[in-house]
Amino acid sequence: MKVLVAVKRVVDANVKVGVKSDGTGVDISNVKMSMNPFDEIAVEEAVRLKESGAATEVVVVSCGVAQAQEALRTALAMGADRAILVESEVDLQPLAVAKLLKALVDKEQPQMVMLGKQAIDGDANQTGQMLAALAGLPQATFASKVVVSEGRATVSREVDGGAEVLSLTLPAVVTTDLRLNEPRYVTLPNIMKAKKKPLETIRPAALGVDVTPRLTTLKVGEPPRRAAGVKVADVETLVEKLKSEAKVL
Ligand code: AMP
Repeated sequence: MKVLVAVKRVVDANVKVGVKSDGTGVDISNVKMSMNPFDEIAVEEAVRLKESGAATEVVVVSCGVAQAQEALRTALAMGADRAILVESEVDLQPLAVAKLLKALVDKEQPQMVMLGKQAIDGDANQTGQMLAALAGLPQATFASKVVVSEGRATVSREVDGGAEVLSLTLPAVVTTDLRLNEPRYVTLPNIMKAKKKPLETIRPAALGVDVTPRLTTLKVGEPPRRAAGVKVADVETLVEKLKSEAKVL
């Protein structure tokens, strides 16, 4: 079984980004970039499927600027076999990425496609769902457990008030939630080995996909600042203020 995993290069989860002064977006010049955390979980799961014998090949794909290779190399160091960079300087919105992944699904014919449930930069939570629709594949989103056996995937997903278990015929699209696994750290020897693994670069046009953005961002602003707090002398004053000023009691 071949597993295709989509990895996005995003601003590192520990970086606090600021809004550009002209309000057109967030300023990401000179900030640390990393693989999207949910995609690390997807790579980890695919590598574990390979280690358990359920998968035979793990192919990772990233769509974006040339530097997205860094995220792909990390995925290769975690244990993926080969990588594909769909290189584009255009701001790739979820629909464009879903179309690119659909073209790669047609080309590579994987039995399972794994994505993160969302990219922590745009928080869209759309790409996996749109890919499943475009490719006509069954999907299980927000996976917290994946078991593959006899041409089917059994996927547990966390829903309000409990866990739902789905059985999907393969090929299928699975998006990962935080609880699925804890991704391994990459070791130096594996980083060195990853440099020798194949990384192919293609352009969207070669896949016949028009990646022109469809959405226009009107404005990006800072969240409203919180008003400064006050110290109160005792519990009675606190309760009084909660009643008379905050009006929450
Ligand atoms: P989103 O719909 O943008 O929240 O992204 C959901 C998931 O789609 C991510 O966790 C990735 O697995 C995948 N994805 C989104 N954008 C890209 C991209 N540019 N390249 C590769 N995978 C992506």
